[in-house]
Amino acid sequence: MLIDLRSIPPHGLTARGEEAPSIIDIQDPGAEFYRPIQYDLDISLAGNILLVRGRLTTVVRFTCSRCLKKFEAPLEIKDFQVQREVTDRGETIDLTDDIRTDIILAVSVKPLCQPECRGICPSCGQDLNQGSCDCSVERSVSPFAELDKIKF
Ligand SMILES: [Zn+2]
Ligand SMILES: [Zn+2]
Repeated sequence: MLIDLRSIPPHGLTARGEEAPSIIDIQDPGAEFYRPIQYDLDISLAGNILLVRGRLTTVVRFTCSRCLKKFEAPLEIKDFQVQREVTDRGETIDLTDDIRTDIILAVSVKPLCQPECRGICPSCGQDLNQGSCDCSVERSVSPFAELDKIKF
């Protein structure tokens, strides 16, 4: 995203638009970017400091880190902020790297399709969200432990 400093009026401006998902060029099989990155930014110049604040939103196709299922989830960065000293008012500032960095940071946590995702059985590959497999019966704690949980 390019900002032409000459286009910023004294009271600042609001920029809304979108960037192609290809600006997020990460080799992360856990998070796939295929929808545009939308921005809604307040841009102003204070002396020779460029100030950018606003919101970035997109939708990411994640791969659950436990069960490997693909799922889509919105991603929102509410406090995107850039401050940059400018030397020449005729300059054009490129914010693409700043946007990329913030988004990559935001998806660096291990994604889960649901907070309670039970994952897949390491021995037979059964998706434990859809039901338990025979091997997990032997491995898991006694049925009484399950009963205790129900009581609570
Ligand atoms: Zn999952
Ligand atoms: Zn199993």
